Order: sequence, then structure tokens, then C-alpha cells
Amino acid sequence: MTLNNQAAFDAAQKLFAGGVNSPVRAFKSVGGTPPFIDRGEGGYLYDIEGKRYIDFVQSWGPLILGHANQSVIDAVVRTAKKGLSFGAPTLLESELAELILSIYDCLDKLRFVSTGTEAVMTALRLARGATGRDLIVKFRGCYHGHSDSLLVEAGSGAATFGAPSSLGVPSDFAKLTLVAEYNDLASVQKLFDERGGAIACVVIEPIAGNMGLVPADEPFLQGLRALCDRHGALLIFDEVMSGFRAALNGALGWTRVRPDIVTFGKVIGGGMSVAALGAKREIIDNLSPIGKVYQAGTLSGNPVAMAAGVATLRTLIDTPNIYDTLGARAQRLVGGFAAAAREKNIALQTAVRGSMFGFFFSGKPVRDFDGALASDAARFAAFHGAMLKRGVYLAPSQFETGFISTQTSEAMIDEAIAAARSAP
Ligand SMILES: *Cc1c(COP(=O)(O)O)cnc(C)c1O
Repeated sequence: MTLNNQAAFDAAQKLFAGGVNSPVRAFKSVGGTPPFIDRGEGGYLYDIEGKRYIDFVQSWGPLILGHANQSVIDAVVRTAKKGLSFGAPTLLESELAELILSIYDCLDKLRFVSTGTEAVMTALRLARGATGRDLIVKFRGCYHGHSDSLLVEAGSGAATFGAPSSLGVPSDFAKLTLVAEYNDLASVQKLFDERGGAIACVVIEPIAGNMGLVPADEPFLQGLRALCDRHGALLIFDEVMSGFRAALNGALGWTRVRPDIVTFGKVIGGGMSVAALGAKREIIDNLSPIGKVYQAGTLSGNPVAMAAGVATLRTLIDTPNIYDTLGARAQRLVGGFAAAAREKNIALQTAVRGSMFGFFFSGKPVRDFDGALASDAARFAAFHGAMLKRGVYLAPSQFETGFISTQTSEAMIDEAIAAARSAP
């Protein structure tokens, strides 16, 4: 048995490309060896060396109730004993859908899928099928999973047509993805002026969490809504990260704009593979078997995963003021980081949206991807390493968002702030 992280990582390199099954886990942008996780308990993670960490990653967002939450585990075990998968309708699917739709009342119906990638990929196909148009607009710095159409960013600020940001994405696909600048309505206006009649949809993280935490401005979102309406395009909010995270109703708790399609993932599965897309009836009924937009999944609506989602969302819905408490802790954490930085004369920008928090080592407020890229990556890497050593597990890249769970106690926040103070 391997008992240390380095030996485990060395062995994993022989089994997986880069030693991991999802790239950022390899710690490439901060250096060092990723801890191999043995177990999680509430707000803590334990690695195979027995070291304990305060966890601000929470499986990249899903675990808003912390690790191994008793009601979630009980629901999973109870359901698993009845069988793992049937590929046939179950009541649990309807139960989870009703919970989601009771909160997102701008949506009529859902379809469950297994990953956020699949949800957004399907949302695009639906938008294209419903409008009969091919072009999509996305924003630099937004991540929507790794489907071909969305692994595209502008090669430079001046580029209008997308260039693939991964090998293996045919340039003919990438050409159908137009790229605009986050929080810059003029860049979207320009695309609509040129190609408005051919644009099926605009897809956005209304609270961007994949270039660090960069919320969209309200006037910008309202401008997107108006442009879509004027040109007959659909507005897709990718709330895979922010849904049931930034507020119970995600980004909708922070904007008056209502999208045509919403994608979900992460929190709605409570740590299991669940994602979904939702829309008004007349849009989503374009999906097969009613409509002509095809989509399917062997494990879609998996009962064990649905049970985890139901237990998670019920707790979130039934606990009064839960997001206020989470938000206050997130504010106190980044406030403490900012004070620690000030003491050392280091410039720090912070942002909070409910249980999501972000910080950039930058002298200027960050509003878009260029702003995020201009922050000090070397300083982030050093800070990350120092925090990890002090038992604080932050996402190993400055282009990620941190998370507070209901199990992240005030004492853990104090400890993390003290670690930031003592970090060099
Ligand atoms: C995580 C994420 C995805 C992709 O979800 P996966 O389950 O990893 O495929 C898509 N969009 C956003 C906004 C995300 O944060």
C-alpha cells in the first residue's frame, strides 16, 4: 500500500495521463504534489498521509453541505439498496425536478443529464434546433465544459471568430462559436450587428466562476437580454456552478434578467453525477421524443444520484437564512485575506457571491478575462503552497472559485485567515 502523496502520484503517472482524471487536479499551475484524498468529514479533507485540510474546494462546488453529510449519505445508501440503475422512469427524478422548478420559476421543464458538459452541450443543440440557426456567442474566460463548440476562445482581443483552445477541435466547428468580452456589451453588439440573423444563442456564466470569480454587471446582462430579444436569439445562463450556490436561485438572486435556458450541475447532485437543463415548455419540447432535437443518456436521472440531489436541495430549501450565513462567512474570509495582504503591502481584489468567493493578486478590479490574466500568477502559486502547508486547501489555480459549505465553521475561517497572515 502506498502511504504518501508523492509515491501515490508517481504510481498514478503510470496509469493516467498526467497522473489525473481531470487536468487541474495535477497542480501544474501552482507546482507541488497534489494530496491524495482518503476521506472528507464536514468542512475537512484528510489525505492518505493523515494530514487534515480545511476544504475550500468542495469537489469544485457540489458539496455545499460539506463532506459526508448524514442526510445525503443516508439517502444514497437507502436508494442504492433498491438497485443502482434501471434506465426507466423513477419518482426520484420527478421529486428532484419539482424542487429545482419550484425555485427557478422561470423554467417549465427540465431534462437530467450526468455532467455539466453534457447539459451545456445539449442546451446549445436545443437552442440551435429551436431557432434553426448555427452560430453561438460565448465569452472569453467562461468555461462551459469541454464539448467541441465551447472549447473555444478568441486568439486575441481583436479576433472575431473563435479559434479552438484545444487540439482536436475542428476549426470548422470553432468558426460557429463567436467570442465576445465579458462585461463588454459593445463586443456583443458588434457580433449581432454583423451576424445577428444567424445567432442561435448567447451562453454565459452570469456569475463567472472559471476565470476566478467575476460577476457580470446588471446593465451588461440586461443588454444581453435586449440584444437576444431584438435578434430572436436565446439567452442561456450556465448555472452549473452558481445554481443553488450563489443563492438558492443562483444568479437569479443577483439579477432581474431571466434567461431562456438554464443549465445546472454540481450542487443539484450533492456530489453525485447529476446535471440538467431547463427551459420554457415551447423551447424544451423540441427535445426528443416530442421534438426533433436528439438527446439521450444511459445513466441520466440515475436514482442514487437523484437521491443525493433531493437530500441536498431539501436541506438548502428548508434551512432558513442558509445563504446569508454562508455569504457572511465568505465575506469574513476574503476580508481577512485582504487585511493580511494590506499588512504586507500586497494588492488584492476580492469578490463574493453567496457561498462563492474569489481573490486576485492585482492592483485593479477584475471585470473580464484580461483583468484575470493580468493578476500575479507567481504570487498566487506561492500563496497556495503556503496555505496548503498550513492545512488550508484552496483550488490550485487563480482561475477558480472558492466555496464555503455549511460545515465551514467560524473557527475554520479564523484558522484560514491566520494562515494567510503567517504565509510569506
Ligand atoms: C463545472 C462547470 C461545467 C462543466 O461541468 P462538468 O460536470 O465538469 O462537465 C460547465 N459550466 C460551468 C459554469 C461549470 O462551472
